[in-house]
Amino acid sequence: MRIADILNSKKVTLSFEVFPPKKKEALESIKKTAVSLTELKPDFISVTFGAGGTTKGYTAEIAEAIEENGTAALAHLTCVRSTTDALKNTIDDLKTRNIKNVLALRGDFPKDAVTGENIFPSGYTHASDLVKLLKQEGMCVGGACYPEGHPESRSHEADIEQLKYKVEAGVDFLTTQMFFDNDMLYSFLYRLQSAGIHVPVLAGIMPITNANQVSRMIDLSNAYIPRKLLAICDRFRDSPEAMMQAGIAYATDQIIDLISNGVRGIHIYTMNKPEIARAIIHNVDDIIKAINN
Ligand code: FAD
Repeated sequence: MRIADILNSKKVTLSFEVFPPKKKEALESIKKTAVSLTELKPDFISVTFGAGGTTKGYTAEIAEAIEENGTAALAHLTCVRSTTDALKNTIDDLKTRNIKNVLALRGDFPKDAVTGENIFPSGYTHASDLVKLLKQEGMCVGGACYPEGHPESRSHEADIEQLKYKVEAGVDFLTTQMFFDNDMLYSFLYRLQSAGIHVPVLAGIMPITNANQVSRMIDLSNAYIPRKLLAICDRFRDSPEAMMQAGIAYATDQIIDLISNGVRGIHIYTMNKPEIARAIIHNVDDIIKAINN
């Protein structure tokens, strides 16, 4: 099913993200993880695309397993280090596997790029270029957005101006980078409205269930970590069960506040851990049902 239709048909949606393995040996186990997530009946499951296209085949395979189990799949696709032919072949492969939804991304600049390397051989240097191609191919297309600004953007204003290219190219929805302070999302949504951007925005929630994750998250996303979350990490760093429980409670709190304030899409970065997704669903299931009924 097309995600645009799912978002249109419900007041609140809840979806998950999984990532493919680096090595083929782990593929079957990640497919099983993805299939076990379908049993929780999310609205869709997204599958990331390894940085620089390192795991490209696996994304389509995992997405196909998700679709075969009755849940809509969203396959991520990046432009970095891809030729136009390679992008078109990937899109054809996704279509053959009955995948109708793609998250169009530029991708990060590869850390191992050498001076003079053309990292965009397709000439698609921004996600908006890929959005146009995917729309021509008849796909339902999502894009990424950054409540705290993309690290390369000069300012919040420049970030929104550039986000507009993606929206004008035809994205059906946007998914946010993770954030840990809901006020960051609310002011971002306000800026989008002021800029005339009205496509659905799905809020990306990363449950922090391991204190060491926090420093990785700051590196990856530059996200602001509120004092309350830092205190949880400090207090429960050496107690894995307590950290897991507190991290799930923090994410649950974020989700309930978002839904209470009218946010219509929650996208959970599961880190391939069905137990985390299950615990969160358990905490918010009745809230979502009450709104959708
Ligand atoms: P773009 O939209 O192209 O933006 C990149 C930068 O260029 C921004 O600063 C933007 O403001 C600027 N910009 C955009 N258009 C223009 C223009 N026309 N002129 C000038 N400047 C412009 N990475 C992966 O490798 N695999 C994944 O599966 C993956 N999934 C992700 C999922 C989500 C929800 C998010 C938020 C990020 C994901 N990423 C993934 C990371 C993403 O690839 C990086 O954040 C990357 O640096 C930017 O990708 P983008 O699609 O947002 O790029």
